Amino acid sequence: MSGDGRPPALELIDVRAGYGRIDVLHGLTLSVPRGTVLALLGPNGAGKSTTVQIAGGRLVPRSGCLHVAGNHVNGASPGRLAKAGVCTIPEGRGIFPNLTVDENLWVMTNATRRARADVRDRALTFFPRLAEKRTQLAGTLSGGEQQMLAMSRALTTDPELLILDEVSLGLAPLIVKELYEAVAHLTTLGIAILVVEQFADTALAVADVAAIMGHGRIKAIGAPSAIAEQLSSAYLGGAA
Ligand code: ATP
Repeated sequence: MSGDGRPPALELIDVRAGYGRIDVLHGLTLSVPRGTVLALLGPNGAGKSTTVQIAGGRLVPRSGCLHVAGNHVNGASPGRLAKAGVCTIPEGRGIFPNLTVDENLWVMTNATRRARADVRDRALTFFPRLAEKRTQLAGTLSGGEQQMLAMSRALTTDPELLILDEVSLGLAPLIVKELYEAVAHLTTLGIAILVVEQFADTALAVADVAAIMGHGRIKAIGAPSAIAEQLSSAYLGGAA
């Protein structure tokens, strides 16, 4: 339970998972409370992507438990997990390149029965940069702006958990900064955010809690300032 007495947005308990005969997660336990950002860090092959696959329902645990907002969702399909409130960016980006920014938001209005103005205002509050682009085709936005639009669309579904999986790949540093500033504000809506990011400093700057993975387990977890010291040894081969 978190401080507000509600169950965490995401909870993995002793999860074992892998591909075919290969075991990757060897008893992973991890919890992301509502309204917090957790940065999942670790060297290549540590199992971060596999963890994201489990949380998004694209891979089923061999054993252990997966809970979303207190509901046991082991074995649920990606569609059911999306309904339970898990949204992955960029995999779930799903923006329509031939529609304008406004139209992309309107489409979500129909899906979620929210008022158009409500959807648009919320998007523009968190991502003011989109205000200047409202009539521009989504396909012509920069990579970072497309991520912002995708996140805006995700917000209309009132997600419990937003998973940001390497969202900064290929983006300019300035827009990455802007993207993560918005991410930090999203937690005020009570949304939990799981960040997997190749640039550890970027993730640590926005995280409430950071976890270092190695060999399919959590090796260290705590405040970003405490974790930063252990990070270099993890990346230099101590943890993977
Ligand atoms: P990276 O930062 O390099 O993506 P990661 O921490 O995300 O690393 P994973 O991608 O989860 O790590 O990979 C963990 C292990 O699982 C690796 O040894 C990888 O080779 C293996 N693996 C990942 N995906 C598959 C797959 N589809 N089939 C078989 N093995 C896989």
